[in-house]
Amino acid sequence: MGMIVAPYARNAFVNTKGMFARANAHKYGVGAYNTTTPEQTRAILSACAETNSPALLAASPSAIKHNGMRVLVEHISAAVSDIRAEGSLIPVALHLDHGATFQLCLDCIVAGFSSVMIDASKKDLEGNIALTKQVVEVAEQYGVSVEAELGKLAGVEDEVSVSAAESSYTDPAEVEEFVDKTGVHSLAIAIGTSHGAQKFKPKDGEAFPELAWHILENIQRRLGDFPLVLHGASTVDPDSVAIFNAFGGKLEQAVGVPEDYISRAIKGPVVKVNTDTDLRIAGSGAYMQFQVENPKNIDWRKPLAAATAAMREVVVHKNNDVFLSAGHGVS
Ligand SMILES: [Zn+2]
Repeated sequence: MGMIVAPYARNAFVNTKGMFARANAHKYGVGAYNTTTPEQTRAILSACAETNSPALLAASPSAIKHNGMRVLVEHISAAVSDIRAEGSLIPVALHLDHGATFQLCLDCIVAGFSSVMIDASKKDLEGNIALTKQVVEVAEQYGVSVEAELGKLAGVEDEVSVSAAESSYTDPAEVEEFVDKTGVHSLAIAIGTSHGAQKFKPKDGEAFPELAWHILENIQRRLGDFPLVLHGASTVDPDSVAIFNAFGGKLEQAVGVPEDYISRAIKGPVVKVNTDTDLRIAGSGAYMQFQVENPKNIDWRKPLAAATAAMREVVVHKNNDVFLSAGHGVS
């Protein structure tokens, strides 16, 4: 078969294979930061350039819908050109977050994404394997890396009992068959993290529950250093929540995954740590603070600039202090 030039190559993106192999070898994590707007994209890229960290920009189907595919890919490509012009050589990947269908994955590959997630975790094992394999087969022709998911992340609304939560975790007995049969390049696992700002409902002073470390260790015994992904891994910083609530917000019982849980996970086989909520809370809070303090302002570029700075600070902190990816931005 002839070589197909990867559409993402013209946009100077790379796939995540080398990124994850280096992260595994050196035991750091790669923050996968969700973006929708140019402000978020600039905040993430300039923070990753400053810390000299690999940059993994994640776009969800709703981010694609918000912009349209072309505006999304082109604004991110342009922002990468900007950091190149400033001399940064960090690797940058553009990743589809939670792609539900083969067609969406294919559309993203053709549009210039360098990595896609096919999330068929709601299907049974056979269905998940079949759809993931189909995506891997086409992605490989374009040099695009593929993430899949085994197990289901709980939402806080679900009010699941401990035993119900346990049953939604990734079943370690399935991982080898899944990876072998699909040829997938990384795997999202469910070990107790969850999406959103309200990751569980604490009683007074109660800490975030321990993750299912026994499952992570069991998976590692079976897959070795195969790259694993944690979704719903924001820490929900209390100071950011306090600012958000002080300036008109109302986020109650917002508790995230403690930073030391993330540190422990990346010492093992977890290489990709999905982070969306933390930037949303910090950015929204900074926007609202600016507007409350400048009530006559109708130039929304000004609160957006404040939001950009706040999001940038979150990424710098995570790369430096939590993911330990700072200094690893080799190309
Ligand atoms: Zn996710």
